[in-house]
Amino acid sequence: MAAAKGAILKGLGVGLVSAVGDVLVIKQTQPLPAWTKSTKTKEQELTELRSAIDFVSGTLDELGAKAGGTSAEIFEALKMLLEDEELFDVATANIEDGWSAAAAIGKAVDEFSELLGGDPTFEERVADFQDLSKRVQARIAGIEMSLSIPATGRIVLVGEDFSPADTAQFTDAVVGVITYKGGPTSHTAIICRSKSIAAVVSCPEATALESGDRVLVDPVGDRVVVSDDQSLATKSIDFVAINEEPLIPVRANIGSLEDAKAASQTRANGVGLFRTELLYLSAKTEPTIEEQVASYTEILKSAPKGPIVVRTIDAGSDKPVPFLNMPAEENPSLGVRGYRLIADHRGFIESQLKAIEQARAASGREVWVMAPMIATAEEARDFSDLARSIGKYKVGIMVETPSIALIVDQLGGIVDFVSVGTNDLSQYLFAADRMNPSLGALLNHWQPALIKSLARIASGASSAGITSGVCGESASDPAFAVVLAGLGIESVSASKSQVTEVHNALSSLSLSDAKEIANEVLKQTTAEAAKATALSEIAKR
Ligand code: PEP
Ligand code: MG
Repeated sequence: MAAAKGAILKGLGVGLVSAVGDVLVIKQTQPLPAWTKSTKTKEQELTELRSAIDFVSGTLDELGAKAGGTSAEIFEALKMLLEDEELFDVATANIEDGWSAAAAIGKAVDEFSELLGGDPTFEERVADFQDLSKRVQARIAGIEMSLSIPATGRIVLVGEDFSPADTAQFTDAVVGVITYKGGPTSHTAIICRSKSIAAVVSCPEATALESGDRVLVDPVGDRVVVSDDQSLATKSIDFVAINEEPLIPVRANIGSLEDAKAASQTRANGVGLFRTELLYLSAKTEPTIEEQVASYTEILKSAPKGPIVVRTIDAGSDKPVPFLNMPAEENPSLGVRGYRLIADHRGFIESQLKAIEQARAASGREVWVMAPMIATAEEARDFSDLARSIGKYKVGIMVETPSIALIVDQLGGIVDFVSVGTNDLSQYLFAADRMNPSLGALLNHWQPALIKSLARIASGASSAGITSGVCGESASDPAFAVVLAGLGIESVSASKSQVTEVHNALSSLSLSDAKEIANEVLKQTTAEAAKATALSEIAKR
């Protein structure tokens, strides 16, 4: 059924640019053949697999060279995934078990994807990885996978989601993108944001759109309107910095040396979240203290000026760390993850704290440490006692569970600071799996219950005499960062690509303005109303 004129399709907006264009629905390509056992020799299957991988790698090189910038880096990373020796070894073992080359690679990628799946950041990479697997299988089956997008006109691409190889084929005629699935951290979202293409993701109702429909892609309004009237676009805010310094420090989130270096090119005031587990996602053996000291020191030295908040390992559930050999669980996000690892892996957490202390001394940087997934004041005290017995850093915890959010006012004298992980806090507050793309609406950071929780955390921290910050994805939304400052949160930490925008937003008004805005937002009862109120209140000032 075609979408009716004037219909409004709700989704999650990406970026601030809106556009009117003609829909081009991209259907999934020809289905790949089912996986079968081999009818050829092992050598033939291996040769086919090797040559298909080489072909897809070559395509990635070409696409990367054509696309340049952020996309080129993504293609380079994808090539590394595809050419991973371990992946090839697993595929070879599958061929030795009698599977065809296409089945062998498909199964190997499935196995690796299970290891990678979880946290939105990785989950989206899993989709990219699966796309590579499909491309190799398509090559083996002789199926063409390129899109055919006109080079002229004003095209709004509509489809389930778009892979890096798809987005590299976007022509200059692509002014908008709408996806049924995919979240705010999907590859489509990253590319559209970096290329200023209007995009709305997680928009299941867009399945009603047909090629030729004229639509307005309205990311600021989190919607698509079946209309050619550009004036219906929700007005975006152009934050103009009027103060030298933002209302509260804007830090950057990092997970690697490259991130630290890139963040130091921004206006970030230090690092609000260094996710140490990201260094170990493929580590089969535990890093020694010396290895840890070397990598942490280099990262601390490269990080932007200001304090650096290092989080001890947050493995488990969505982030598997091979050397910890964690058993499979029925309900992993409610299982042994984050600081709960102390029961079986105290040795590693202590070695991390020692290595962070040595790196702190060697780098001369101001370091704070914090533990993830803390649920009780006893756990906070346990971590704090341990950390203070090892190093001279400020000690804090993440607020990611509703149980600890309720008692932040009782943490005075136990920790120096709290940092709110809104990604997990939303997941646990709304009982909504953060990996499930169909629960995007509950995970929207404008949900009133999340904002109320943040207000309570800020006032609890202030009455307990401890510092509060937010390092979840919500802090990367400039308008939301203004609300956070108004609620009394004392720092934000954003993904490095958003630091400048968040910095501008927080430099564009006074603290009393931010407080008034936050008070109006707190009166709202829906996520839509909360966001609309924030935007209109900001626009008034
Ligand atoms: C969070 O939960 O918001 C957070 C910052 O931690 P992570 O995304 O690494 O779980
Ligand atoms: Mg978390």
